[in-house]
Amino acid sequence: MGDIDLIKKYNIVLTDDFRRELSADSILIIDKNVYNLHNLKNIDSHRVILFEASEENKTLSAYAEIVEKLLDIEADRSSEIVAIGGGITCDLVAFVASTFLRGVKLTLVPTTLLAMCDAAIGGKNGLNFQGAKNIIGNIRQPNKIVIDTRFLSTLPEEILSDGFAEVIKISATCDATLFELLESETFAFPNVDLIAMREVIRRAIYLKLQIVAEDEFEAGKRRILNFGHTLAHAIEAVYGLSHGRAVALGMQFAVRLSEIEGIAPKGIAPRIDNLVSKYKLHKIIKLQADKILPYMLKDKKREKDFIYFVALSALGKAEITLISFTLLEEVLNALHHD
Ligand code: NAD
Repeated sequence: MGDIDLIKKYNIVLTDDFRRELSADSILIIDKNVYNLHNLKNIDSHRVILFEASEENKTLSAYAEIVEKLLDIEADRSSEIVAIGGGITCDLVAFVASTFLRGVKLTLVPTTLLAMCDAAIGGKNGLNFQGAKNIIGNIRQPNKIVIDTRFLSTLPEEILSDGFAEVIKISATCDATLFELLESETFAFPNVDLIAMREVIRRAIYLKLQIVAEDEFEAGKRRILNFGHTLAHAIEAVYGLSHGRAVALGMQFAVRLSEIEGIAPKGIAPRIDNLVSKYKLHKIIKLQADKILPYMLKDKKREKDFIYFVALSALGKAEITLISFTLLEEVLNALHHD
């Protein structure tokens, strides 16, 4: 299926004014920062619930608060809920919509680059529970997704660059042409090119949808989306880096491991390094195998002394391989001395 058809099938609209896509009687649940920065006070014809987006607030108590407010404003089974915000808001509101009155209509209006290309796409939602991320949730496709790149204009640089980590990931694993475009063009920093970004986002969405369409419930191919993430989760936990910076380091590591194992031809690692710097994700950090490995041992992708790992077999092509913890440790220690 071509990109236009697949994007239409999932009812994803790229627009220069998201308001045109909202039905008048929908209930908007909006990230407070976005509400203030984008002057959304004048969406007064809608019923509005504000949400304070943070990982600490992506919880059952925030879920309960929203459900209470929905009951207060007499939402019913015919109501349509719209989430306007980043990945946290989209994840939480999507879970509310899929469970409130056993499921009501949902539109997502993602407002960060990460949410536009990744979090809002694919139907996964989730809540944190007792400090563990996304432990509660389900998979249910939203009824509509509206992408308006104007939201990107107010994103702090660090949050914007975190989003680029996912764009680099999807291009490195699925689309060499998009990767080359990221290398040759300047889409951001210092200024975001809102029009050019629309095409980048459209392409990234299409690539993710192709995988999701094949493997909605993560039985196989969807695991490719974990490129760079196996190590990234450990790095986030141990060094407290942002998700995007941790994913960047994870990808730098994964491509080296792919080269060392002879899965990838030599020469891709410096190109990933170059994009990581260009999109402001570069972080110099000494990765300590003795701190990282205990986290990786807890990974659900582990099998005894081995772990399922997403490697690159070429630029734009990924494969899942089983590698030993001994090799992981060796490569981590080798990187440490780079
Ligand atoms: P986020 O929603 O916390 O947004 C980051 C910060 O940016 C917040 O402070 C928010 O208020 C602010 N913000 C949002 N839009 C803004 C805008 N346009 N201008 C200025 N500030 C804005 O974080 P995120 O990075 O978008 O998403 C991270 C979350 O996404 C994580 O909880 C992660 O688990 C989830 N996620 C889910 C999936 C999935 O498939 N469901 C995939 C990837 C990530």
